[in-house]
Amino acid sequence: MSEMRYEAPKTLESAVALLSGATGLARVLAGGSDLLIQMRTGRVEPELLVDIKGIPEMTSIVAEKGGFRFGAAVSCMELHEHKAFAQAWPGLTEAAMLIGSYQIKGRATVGGNLCNASPAADSVPALIAASATASIVGPNGRREARVEDIATGPGKTSLAKGEIVASFLLPPRPAHAADAYLRFIPRTEMDIAVVGAGVNLTLNDKGVCTHARVVLGAVAERALLVAEAANALIGTKVDAAALQRLSAAASAACRPIDDKRGTKEYRIKVAGVMTRRAAAIALDRARRMN
Ligand SMILES: Cc1cc2nc3c(=O)[nH]c(=O)nc-3n(C[C@H](O)[C@H](O)[C@H](O)COP(=O)(O)OP(=O)(O)OC[C@H]3O[C@@H](n4cnc5c(N)ncnc54)[C@H](O)[C@@H]3O)c2cc1C
Repeated sequence: MSEMRYEAPKTLESAVALLSGATGLARVLAGGSDLLIQMRTGRVEPELLVDIKGIPEMTSIVAEKGGFRFGAAVSCMELHEHKAFAQAWPGLTEAAMLIGSYQIKGRATVGGNLCNASPAADSVPALIAASATASIVGPNGRREARVEDIATGPGKTSLAKGEIVASFLLPPRPAHAADAYLRFIPRTEMDIAVVGAGVNLTLNDKGVCTHARVVLGAVAERALLVAEAANALIGTKVDAAALQRLSAAASAACRPIDDKRGTKEYRIKVAGVMTRRAAAIALDRARRMN
């Protein structure tokens, strides 16, 4: 490996200047739980590492516009420990808390999970189901993007050179709204999802679903927002027939690969089951949210 430079800027502007001025391969370093492994195995050999964990905007969780904004360098454990956040977004919090061991969760970030662009990333379906938007800062200033538009395929993102995901904005929570995330893995812990399913829904005061977002992970080249699955819930009381239609729509949307964790057929079937179970959990939570 050639010589590597490590920088830990205190502002986003300096981080962007460092990244956009780099002549060789430059990488943002958040928790390092993906990047350091990629470096150790020689998959990436950056000349410049820009550590973003010392930038205040990227490490805080604040109330904004009736919802929450959290920095892309906030660790999964910090999200979990923020009581108001975890209560408002139990599905996103449980997705973040599935990432690795306690040691990993203390370092790993949702920003890194998204920008690493693994199709099996756990927090990404939950983030998309939550209608999160990302605030991105780069050499041409700041822009907002839907989270579903950031990862484009395995290891690939729509970020331009020098761009950093600074933070995520989650919208306000109406009454009777909740989310849930479930994943299936071959072991009980510390494995990559065979299927992940994030469901976010809102009920009116008669218990009818007025809004839903359904997102699948690990069944395509990137997380899939499945409108047909959400439509199976909207306008219903999320009864058994609606859940059955949801399950069928989720399975129909999958375009998975075969690998050592599961065949295509298996993933398609499990996706329907996981989505139905996640929706039932979100429904139960939504009924109890005032
Ligand atoms: C033992 C172990 C278990 C794991 N288990 C899971 C699991 O169960 N589920 C799961 O989804 N993942 C898992 N992972 C993978 C990893 O922990 C997660 O993907 C984690 O969220 C990555 O976050 P990070 O902050 O460590 O990212 P880093 O490793 O710091 O960065 C990852 C990539 O994203 C880029 N990046 C990071 N932040 C930004 C930003 N703000 N803007 C632009 N680019 C950025 C980096 O340059 C790098 O290319 C596991 C890893 C290990 C080692």
